[in-house]
Amino acid sequence: MERTLSIIKPDGVAKGLIGEVARRFEKTGIRIAAMKMIHMTKKQAQGFYAVHRERPFFDSVTDFMSSGPCVVMVLEGDNVIARNRELMGATNPEDAAEGTIRKDFATDIEKNVVHGSDAPETAAFEIGYFFNGLEIVG
Ligand code: GDP
Repeated sequence: MERTLSIIKPDGVAKGLIGEVARRFEKTGIRIAAMKMIHMTKKQAQGFYAVHRERPFFDSVTDFMSSGPCVVMVLEGDNVIARNRELMGATNPEDAAEGTIRKDFATDIEKNVVHGSDAPETAAFEIGYFFNGLEIVG
Protein backbone atom coordinates (compact mmCIF):
# COMPACT_ATOMS: atom_id res chain seq x y z
CA MET A 1 0.00 0.00 0.00
CA GLU A 2 1.37 3.39 -1.03
CA ARG A 3 0.39 7.02 -0.44
CA THR A 4 0.77 10.09 -2.61
CA LEU A 5 -0.15 13.76 -2.47
CA SER A 6 -2.62 15.15 -4.97
CA ILE A 7 -3.48 18.83 -5.40
CA ILE A 8 -6.35 20.25 -7.38
CA LYS A 9 -4.65 23.50 -8.35
CA PRO A 10 -6.33 26.95 -8.32
CA ASP A 11 -7.38 26.62 -11.99
CA GLY A 12 -9.02 23.26 -11.29
CA VAL A 13 -10.93 24.61 -8.28
CA ALA A 14 -11.97 27.74 -10.25
CA LYS A 15 -13.26 25.54 -13.10
CA GLY A 16 -15.41 23.50 -10.70
CA LEU A 17 -13.42 20.29 -11.13
CA ILE A 18 -13.16 19.13 -7.49
CA GLY A 19 -15.89 16.51 -7.90
CA GLU A 20 -14.70 15.38 -11.34
CA VAL A 21 -11.11 14.83 -10.20
CA ALA A 22 -12.16 13.03 -7.00
CA ARG A 23 -14.54 10.87 -9.06
CA ARG A 24 -11.72 9.79 -11.37
CA PHE A 25 -9.66 8.69 -8.37
CA GLU A 26 -12.51 6.82 -6.68
CA LYS A 27 -13.68 5.24 -9.95
CA THR A 28 -10.30 3.56 -10.38
CA GLY A 29 -10.24 2.27 -6.80
CA ILE A 30 -7.92 4.89 -5.35
CA ARG A 31 -8.91 5.74 -1.76
CA ILE A 32 -8.96 9.36 -0.55
CA ALA A 33 -7.41 9.16 2.93
CA ALA A 34 -7.41 12.93 3.62
CA MET A 35 -8.81 16.01 1.90
CA LYS A 36 -8.97 19.75 2.63
CA MET A 37 -9.16 23.13 0.95
CA ILE A 38 -6.34 25.60 1.51
CA HIS A 39 -5.20 28.93 0.06
CA MET A 40 -1.39 29.05 0.07
CA THR A 41 0.58 32.21 0.61
CA LYS A 42 3.38 32.92 -1.88
CA LYS A 43 5.88 31.77 0.78
CA GLN A 44 4.03 28.49 1.34
CA ALA A 45 3.95 27.86 -2.42
CA GLN A 46 7.69 28.59 -2.61
CA GLY A 47 8.29 26.07 0.17
CA PHE A 48 6.21 23.45 -1.59
CA TYR A 49 7.99 23.91 -4.94
CA ALA A 50 11.45 24.49 -3.38
CA VAL A 51 12.99 21.81 -5.65
CA HIS A 52 12.16 24.09 -8.59
CA ARG A 53 13.66 27.28 -7.08
CA GLU A 54 16.36 27.57 -9.77
CA ARG A 55 13.94 27.02 -12.66
CA PRO A 56 12.86 29.98 -14.83
CA PHE A 57 9.18 29.31 -14.10
CA PHE A 58 9.56 29.28 -10.28
CA ASP A 59 8.22 32.79 -9.70
CA SER A 60 5.33 32.30 -12.10
CA VAL A 61 4.24 28.89 -10.80
CA THR A 62 4.37 30.01 -7.16
CA ASP A 63 2.28 33.10 -8.05
CA PHE A 64 -0.19 30.75 -9.70
CA MET A 65 -0.29 28.26 -6.83
CA SER A 66 -0.98 31.09 -4.35
CA SER A 67 -3.56 32.81 -6.59
CA GLY A 68 -6.58 30.98 -5.18
CA PRO A 69 -7.75 27.98 -3.20
CA CYS A 70 -6.42 24.47 -3.83
CA VAL A 71 -7.75 21.11 -2.67
CA VAL A 72 -5.04 18.90 -1.22
CA MET A 73 -5.57 15.16 -0.86
CA VAL A 74 -3.73 12.12 0.39
CA LEU A 75 -4.42 9.23 -1.97
CA GLU A 76 -3.88 5.62 -0.98
CA GLY A 77 -3.63 2.39 -2.95
CA ASP A 78 -1.31 -0.11 -4.60
CA ASN A 79 1.20 1.69 -6.82
CA VAL A 80 -0.82 4.90 -6.35
CA ILE A 81 2.06 7.28 -7.17
CA ALA A 82 2.32 5.94 -10.73
CA ARG A 83 -1.44 5.38 -11.11
CA ASN A 84 -2.14 8.99 -10.15
CA ARG A 85 0.52 10.27 -12.58
CA GLU A 86 -1.14 8.21 -15.29
CA LEU A 87 -4.59 9.67 -14.56
CA MET A 88 -3.06 13.19 -14.56
CA GLY A 89 -1.23 12.96 -17.90
CA ALA A 90 1.93 14.78 -19.03
CA THR A 91 2.85 18.17 -17.52
CA ASN A 92 2.17 19.91 -20.83
CA PRO A 93 -1.44 19.20 -21.84
CA GLU A 94 -0.37 19.21 -25.50
CA ASP A 95 1.65 16.07 -24.74
CA ALA A 96 -0.92 14.46 -22.43
CA ALA A 97 -2.64 11.23 -23.48
CA GLU A 98 -6.33 11.15 -24.38
CA GLY A 99 -8.64 10.76 -21.40
CA THR A 100 -6.19 12.15 -18.85
CA ILE A 101 -7.17 14.98 -16.51
CA ARG A 102 -4.67 17.39 -18.03
CA LYS A 103 -5.65 16.53 -21.63
CA ASP A 104 -9.31 17.04 -20.79
CA PHE A 105 -9.08 20.19 -18.65
CA ALA A 106 -5.66 21.91 -18.53
CA THR A 107 -5.14 25.38 -20.04
CA ASP A 108 -1.35 25.25 -20.56
CA ILE A 109 1.88 23.81 -19.12
CA GLU A 110 1.48 25.87 -15.93
CA LYS A 111 -2.28 25.89 -15.37
CA ASN A 112 -2.54 22.13 -15.57
CA VAL A 113 -5.26 21.44 -12.98
CA VAL A 114 -3.52 18.84 -10.82
CA HIS A 115 -0.31 18.01 -9.00
CA GLY A 116 0.84 14.52 -8.04
CA SER A 117 3.99 13.41 -6.20
CA ASP A 118 6.52 11.75 -8.51
CA ALA A 119 8.34 9.36 -6.11
CA PRO A 120 8.02 7.88 -2.59
CA GLU A 121 10.47 10.42 -1.10
CA THR A 122 8.66 13.42 -2.58
CA ALA A 123 5.29 11.94 -1.56
CA ALA A 124 6.48 11.70 2.06
CA PHE A 125 7.73 15.31 2.03
CA GLU A 126 4.63 16.67 0.28
CA ILE A 127 2.11 14.82 2.49
CA GLY A 128 3.95 16.09 5.58
CA TYR A 129 3.93 19.63 4.16
CA PHE A 130 0.13 19.78 4.33
CA PHE A 131 -1.12 17.11 6.73
CA ASN A 132 -0.35 15.86 10.21
CA GLY A 133 -0.91 12.22 11.15
CA LEU A 134 -4.28 12.88 12.80
CA GLU A 135 -5.69 14.26 9.55
CA ILE A 136 -4.96 11.11 7.55
CA VAL A 137 -7.57 8.41 7.97
CA GLY A 138 -5.97 4.98 7.78
P1 GDP B 1 4.66 17.86 -12.82
O1 GDP B 1 5.37 16.90 -11.90
O2 GDP B 1 4.04 17.18 -14.01
O3 GDP B 1 3.66 18.74 -12.10
O4 GDP B 1 5.78 18.83 -13.47
P2 GDP B 1 7.09 19.55 -12.84
O5 GDP B 1 7.42 18.98 -11.50
O6 GDP B 1 8.13 19.51 -13.91
O7 GDP B 1 6.65 21.08 -12.69
C1 GDP B 1 5.87 21.51 -11.59
C2 GDP B 1 4.81 22.47 -12.08
O8 GDP B 1 5.43 23.67 -12.55
C3 GDP B 1 3.99 21.98 -13.28
O9 GDP B 1 2.92 21.13 -12.94
C4 GDP B 1 3.48 23.29 -13.85
O10 GDP B 1 2.39 23.82 -13.12
C5 GDP B 1 4.70 24.19 -13.66
N1 GDP B 1 5.59 24.15 -14.85
C6 GDP B 1 6.37 23.13 -15.30
N2 GDP B 1 7.06 23.45 -16.39
C7 GDP B 1 6.73 24.75 -16.65
C8 GDP B 1 7.13 25.68 -17.66
O11 GDP B 1 7.94 25.38 -18.55
N3 GDP B 1 6.56 26.93 -17.59
C9 GDP B 1 5.68 27.29 -16.63
N4 GDP B 1 5.17 28.54 -16.63
N5 GDP B 1 5.29 26.45 -15.66
C10 GDP B 1 5.81 25.18 -15.68
